[in-house]
Amino acid sequence: MNPLRSLILAAAGNEAIRRLVATAPGTRGVVQRFVAGETTADALAAVRALAADGRYATLDYLGEDTSDRALTEEIVRSYLRLLDELHAEGLAGRAEVSVKLSALSVRTGTGPFDERLALDNASRVCAAAEQRGTTVTVDMEDHTATDATLRVLAELRRTWPRTGAVLQSYLRRTEADAAALAGPGSRVRLCKGAYAEPADVAFDSAHEVDLSYVRCANLLLEGEGYPMFATHDPRLIAVLAERVRWYGRKQGSYEYQMLYGVRPDEQRRLAAEGETVRVYVPFGEQWYGYLMRRLAERPANTAFFLRALASR
Ligand code: FAD
Repeated sequence: MNPLRSLILAAAGNEAIRRLVATAPGTRGVVQRFVAGETTADALAAVRALAADGRYATLDYLGEDTSDRALTEEIVRSYLRLLDELHAEGLAGRAEVSVKLSALSVRTGTGPFDERLALDNASRVCAAAEQRGTTVTVDMEDHTATDATLRVLAELRRTWPRTGAVLQSYLRRTEADAAALAGPGSRVRLCKGAYAEPADVAFDSAHEVDLSYVRCANLLLEGEGYPMFATHDPRLIAVLAERVRWYGRKQGSYEYQMLYGVRPDEQRRLAAEGETVRVYVPFGEQWYGYLMRRLAERPANTAFFLRALASR
């Protein structure tokens, strides 16, 4: 992995660097590019703006790696309020929600998070989403959480079969997971993966990650589920367009997903061609870990980060 990318991802877990970045002069503008705002009203405004040109949204109330039960309860309640408001504003058909199990649960000594608490809290969000006419996708975090996340997801899918999974093509295991999740009714978001992972579990070269992405996309397109292709990579998007035709998939039987603030013109271009395009819209005050992963993805974004460190 590129050393600068590793450095920024390591900083994502560092409290002292978080404080430096939070108070650095350029921070506000960078946060605004990638995060829709701090409040539910900001998130709803983003959904309306996306809907105006035919795009859909998946809303992420920012938070991750929680150590405090009271905070997980606050996060669950924020999701429940958000779902109520989406419904009240007539936007439930336009937006679903994305959740991180490490935010809905607490760390334990033995696993990445308390699975029982994650399942209970995610179930509350899934039940509310169903009542309000929308769905939930369970984000995937670093590889230490993959098994636990897939176990909780399997439980959720017994009651809410349309709960979305996320698979990361950088993990060596993912082709097998894609085959297992390609059945009827499944919704699977395929992304490259955003965390710093060791070489024994993840491909190191971008080329291998891309090849794995295409192999997994083939499995999902060949299957009977609803693939959600989360990438901004122009080469992959061109390959996906060809693969979709090859498998005879009609528009609406799969979708493209991109992040808020990244390649908005491409999002609009695909939507104008009749593709379903869903934008991942993060909002809330806990933006630091999310922002660091976005900065690590693109060298051009990191100038800001280096200036923030150098200014101290
Ligand atoms: P890259 O090769 O990283 O980028 C291709 C091109 O896209 C770049 O050249 C650039 O032009 C543009 N680009 C990409 N990222 C940026 C950026 N941050 N800023 C500006 N331009 C950029 N990862 C997880 O590990 N778990 C998840 O649950 C998860 N959910 C996601 C949901 C959605 C909807 C999306 C779009 C991504 C998600 N990711 C998740 C992140 C993903 O794993 C990648 O880290 C991220 O999408 C960058 O990979 P890429 O496929 O766009 O390709």
